[in-house]
Amino acid sequence: MVECIFCFLFAEIQTADDEKESKQKNQHRKKNKNVLNAVAQKPSGMDTYNIEGVSANEILKFVVTTFENGCTFEDFLLQCNLFPSSADIPRWFEKLMMQFHIFKNNEKIEYILPYVKTAGVCSSYNNRQNPGECNNVNCRFLHVCRRFVRNIYCNFKGCKLAHDFTNQHNSPLIERFGLENLRENQIKTVLNNQFPSICRDYNFNERCKVGTKKCVNLHLCGSYKFGKCEKPCKYKRTHKLNNNHNKWVLRAFQMNSWPHDKILKSIYVPPKRAPRYSNNDEGDLDHNKNIDDDDDDVYKSSDFIDLDENFVPPKAESSDSSSDEDES
Ligand SMILES: [Zn+2]
Ligand SMILES: [Zn+2]
Ligand SMILES: [Zn+2]
Ligand SMILES: [Zn+2]
Repeated sequence: MVECIFCFLFAEIQTADDEKESKQKNQHRKKNKNVLNAVAQKPSGMDTYNIEGVSANEILKFVVTTFENGCTFEDFLLQCNLFPSSADIPRWFEKLMMQFHIFKNNEKIEYILPYVKTAGVCSSYNNRQNPGECNNVNCRFLHVCRRFVRNIYCNFKGCKLAHDFTNQHNSPLIERFGLENLRENQIKTVLNNQFPSICRDYNFNERCKVGTKKCVNLHLCGSYKFGKCEKPCKYKRTHKLNNNHNKWVLRAFQMNSWPHDKILKSIYVPPKRAPRYSNNDEGDLDHNKNIDDDDDDVYKSSDFIDLDENFVPPKAESSDSSSDEDES
């Protein structure tokens, strides 16, 4: 009798275990299910819109690997076959404000720029007085050299900061951000999209080749960002964050209601010359070779926002005063 109860209990436990195991297996299978075979869940009118088998990380990886960075929505739709045909793709993106900056024209998505809202580089770790020191034992930001992330030559003499995402502190974070399947350069791209950058062409050259409400970078005087240019602008660039183009960019970054100073502080001003880096990871090993580039420009680029001195962009080659107003 006793034996029987034991048998019974044992059988019960076994069944529960089996069920658990098969549940786990199912979940595992679900996770690994090929996204190509995804089936759309009916839009529920709720605040979330999930499409079974389509993961945000997967789509982010697709965009970063296919387009190197962001892309027009048109190009995305042409090239991406990861969604089932019944899916409302624009709606799906609009619910994903934590992983894509959405640029819209006339309520239609024009451009998508991948980023991860929680993924950032630790500024304490990058401080100039005691580089590499962050006193927060639970720091959730990456302990990595900011210049390395920006792909600009790191000119701290004998920089002691980490130049990889694979150390003990960084690798669990990279996983938490869902970036573990990306290559080093792709991780940098995602990190650098967190906040808006000033358009290199607008700032340093005659004009932006992409154009108003198409270029996803701010059209703003880089010197103004550093508080080094008063009105009227010496370089014939705009100081307005609230012109049509800049408002459009800031809206995509969900920063349109931020205080002016906070926006200015978060903006990145790239160095004059595009850093020479290739798409493969070996290219990263070469990043120090950029010393041949105009070192001054590199030094004067931000992110070390308040600490960089004497940022002086060259004067506009064009005397075309219309470059000040890029409203259209
Ligand atoms: Zn830190
Ligand atoms: Zn460094
Ligand atoms: Zn531009
Ligand atoms: Zn200016």
